[in-house]
Amino acid sequence: MGNSYRSPWVKDIPHGKAELSTEVSIVYRRQFGFSGTRTIAGESGFNHFRFMRVLLIEDDKQIGDGLVAALKAAGMAVDWARDGLMALEALRDPAYAIALLDLGLPGADGMTVLKSARQHGIETPVLIITARDAVESRVTGLDHGADDYLVKPFEVPELLARMRALLRRRAGQTDSRLITSEAVLDTATHQFSCGGRTETLSARGYALMRVLMERPGHIFSRVQIEEYIYGWGEEVESNAVEVLIHSLRRKFGKGVILNIRGAGWMVPK
Ligand code: CA
Repeated sequence: MGNSYRSPWVKDIPHGKAELSTEVSIVYRRQFGFSGTRTIAGESGFNHFRFMRVLLIEDDKQIGDGLVAALKAAGMAVDWARDGLMALEALRDPAYAIALLDLGLPGADGMTVLKSARQHGIETPVLIITARDAVESRVTGLDHGADDYLVKPFEVPELLARMRALLRRRAGQTDSRLITSEAVLDTATHQFSCGGRTETLSARGYALMRVLMERPGHIFSRVQIEEYIYGWGEEVESNAVEVLIHSLRRKFGKGVILNIRGAGWMVPK
């Protein structure tokens, strides 16, 4: 692993907001054969933590395995990048709600990764997790655009609490609800109300509604939805998204998710 491959993107990340086309993202994943750890919460294992996709950047296998398991248990989809170059590429994917960044990495040091990502307009929230507890490195990390800093070893509940706080700060909101003209989704309880009906959604149902309701009026293709709600390397049934949408429409009415022929789906604003 390490820097045994040459990244086609590291040198020319475009300025402005990071946008990586879904096609490129998939090709790149296939090309570099991310052994990426596919993790998705089982329906029963799902709890209060918001369902979301996380990028873990960590070269230590033991720590990485532990964190992946912990994040998975908390209901998140996790992609695991094991060196700095892979991390830089992965960060270009805007799908991540948050990145956990180790500093001591092969390929490109974590601080370099962070600095470069921020210089190129990548705004993904970054939480540094590292054993470097010296005050200077904390300050440097924050100066380079990290959102928070956690020193190893740490307890998982603290990590999760920091992640929640960071996301709340980033969102600049204290209200946990996403509201459209037709529906309300509570990201804290996963309760969803639409068409006169209120129900706690399954993990995947929640993940889907959250993606759609964060951008009402925006059309998402099936591939895009899969990108948001599944991690690297997971086998996804070709009609999984359709099945999920069908079941939500059966419960909450056809207006809950609009089918835009040939393009994808959206929720009305
Ligand atoms: Ca390390």
